[in-house]
Amino acid sequence: MRAARFLGNERIEMVDAPVPVPAPGEVLMQVAYCGLCGSDRKPYRGGSVVTPGHEVAGTVVDANGCDVAEGTRAAAYLAVFCGECVYCRRGLTNLCRQRRGLLGWTLPWHGGYAEYMAVPAIDVLPIDDAVGFDAAVLLLDTIGTAWHGLRLAHADRAARALVIGCGPLGLGAVAGLVAFGGGEVFACDLVAERRQAAAELGATPVAPADIAALDDLEVVVEAVGSQPTMMQAIRSVAPGGRVVMLGEIWEPWLFEPSMETMLTDYSLIRSWYFPVSEFAENQRMLLAGKVSADRLISHVFPGEALDQAFRLFLSGQTRKVLVTG
Ligand SMILES: [Zn+2]
Ligand SMILES: [Zn+2]
Repeated sequence: MRAARFLGNERIEMVDAPVPVPAPGEVLMQVAYCGLCGSDRKPYRGGSVVTPGHEVAGTVVDANGCDVAEGTRAAAYLAVFCGECVYCRRGLTNLCRQRRGLLGWTLPWHGGYAEYMAVPAIDVLPIDDAVGFDAAVLLLDTIGTAWHGLRLAHADRAARALVIGCGPLGLGAVAGLVAFGGGEVFACDLVAERRQAAAELGATPVAPADIAALDDLEVVVEAVGSQPTMMQAIRSVAPGGRVVMLGEIWEPWLFEPSMETMLTDYSLIRSWYFPVSEFAENQRMLLAGKVSADRLISHVFPGEALDQAFRLFLSGQTRKVLVTG
């Protein structure tokens, strides 16, 4: 089968690899679509021992003795959780304390930039017949991750909210704020096309220079993962408000104190991925038409054109970009 190797220095090679043999407790999934993710910048630049790709939907073609019907259409949950720890038992599988790994990130779990992948049965999230594989990919990081952060911040109660950064995750947050029916939603990005995408999803677009003029922002979502935007989020949130940190920063980041940021109350919420227990509700909202998958996806490439897809995606001008399996 075709599989991608990330060599580092922004080089991707397509290789002919054997179809994975699922281990006990795993099934074989034929990949329909895999979503490109901003977090894939890490293996794209630094290389990876596994085939990346962690936003995957497809069909179970070999149940391998697991309690999953062959032919099941499903999304693949990222975290290989234990199912037994105190967090898993509470349904908070994203917080599992005995996480064995992450699909497409850690050995032995190669990801979805390939035609097939082995998926632990516990990570198979069956989807409704009416949900397309493309929308199923969105139910993972774009919707799942963003909406979990919004739930932690009780964003449905916010009369005014701002999303900083309108890449796929930020757009997912915009779509969630609109779907939850909270209140007025503002969205900011440096790129006009991404502000336009946010507007199509129901937000009021704002240019970065105009953020300072917004007040009473009860929730501010940071979906960039940079030092300036983290500080901007903290400075923008109203007293008593919540900053949701969805972006990934891998460098130390500096907090610049000021009277405004000292003499106030606010909460800083770090949110990572989502519990399996939220998947059904997100899917229900998708099926109810509360969010448009078409507006969240801008490009679909064939799997062989992954390199081209990455160049376009990392130009920062797109919505969600998918490749086929
Ligand atoms: Zn992702
Ligand atoms: Zn656990």
